[in-house]
Amino acid sequence: MQKSSRVYFDYAATTPIDPLVLASMQPYFDQLFGNSSSIHFWGQEAEAALEDSRESVAKLLNCQPKEIIFTSCGTESDNLALRGCALAAKKRSNAGHILISSVEHHAVSQTAMQLQRLFGFQVEFIPVDSTGMVDPQDVSSRIRPDTCLVSVIHANNEIGTINPISEIGLICHKRGVLFHTDAVQSAAHLPIEVDSLHVDLLSIGAHKFYGPKGVGALYIRQGTPIEPTQTGGGQEFNLRAGTHNIPYIVGLAKAFEIAQQSLQSRGQKVTTMRDYIIGTVLEAIPASHLTGHPTQRLPNHASFIFDGVDGNTLLMMLDVAGFACSSGSACKTGNPEPSEILLAMGIEPRKALGSLRITLDQSTSSSDVQALFEILPTIVDQNRKLTT
Ligand SMILES: *Cc1c(COP(=O)(O)O)cnc(C)c1O
Repeated sequence: MQKSSRVYFDYAATTPIDPLVLASMQPYFDQLFGNSSSIHFWGQEAEAALEDSRESVAKLLNCQPKEIIFTSCGTESDNLALRGCALAAKKRSNAGHILISSVEHHAVSQTAMQLQRLFGFQVEFIPVDSTGMVDPQDVSSRIRPDTCLVSVIHANNEIGTINPISEIGLICHKRGVLFHTDAVQSAAHLPIEVDSLHVDLLSIGAHKFYGPKGVGALYIRQGTPIEPTQTGGGQEFNLRAGTHNIPYIVGLAKAFEIAQQSLQSRGQKVTTMRDYIIGTVLEAIPASHLTGHPTQRLPNHASFIFDGVDGNTLLMMLDVAGFACSSGSACKTGNPEPSEILLAMGIEPRKALGSLRITLDQSTSSSDVQALFEILPTIVDQNRKLTT
């Protein structure tokens, strides 16, 4: 199979770097390679690039530059938000209750579970409806006097559902509880302004919006009590020690700017394609179901379950045919576990194993989609014969 005849339908897993982003990073690898903490010319150049990047990200999130902390990825941003706020709360008081949705990325849920296991926090999961959405009233009824943090994902990576973050944030603020959202998946597709979302903490990661892998950022509202989770030097306002990765930080800022400025044009294009894919799959493939919300979902995101199908085998068959897709299952080989996200939505474990995720970008052409539809019904059919 030639590389050119392969089609990439997995933009929720990662995106290629934008050539403009790559160009913006280039000088900082060799010409302007300084350590931003150094006093001399090279240090000053690095420091200037760092602070320009911080200002640019802050402007897009509509916050102050000093509220932006650069990290090594979306996962680290989630870790700092949860562990940092939990440890600060423990130091101040006995607030030990953490509320998270039952459709969080592992970067949030595994961090919360470790806080429970090692530090005695009590983690409570907020249920979701059959579309994977959190009900703000449900959050309200679960907030307790000892709740130190609420975390609800903005848009889910597996099912594309967009949560009512603004409503949940308003409730948390009225009750005086810190609110974090994982916006790693939504940052490429939705406007994210921290005040209209009423969040105290918000995570992003560059490789989901055409930036480099290995760099992220965390917005922390001024005055939020938080402890560093990586200690050492005084970088990032004493909240994230370690010499700054200047080229990657510059790349994140550039990519975020381009992504946020092209939201509308990209959104319109992929939404049409997404809805065509959803309509065609449901029509052409018997016993197929859309997962996630029918309308409140990421514009580039189509996700399904097929009765009687093994999702991992389906992905391998699609790969052989030249199509790169994904499933809800985190397990790649061996004994696959059904996705916790799909289970939380009330889908039976056996059914949850038959999931398929197709995610697009503006370069996805209708001939790419046509090519997929030429083989998908047959492949699903073959898979069903193998599975039963
Ligand atoms: C990808 C992703 C992460 C992890 O981000 P990395 O930068 O890959 O560490 C966290 N949350 C969500 C919703 C994601 O899609």
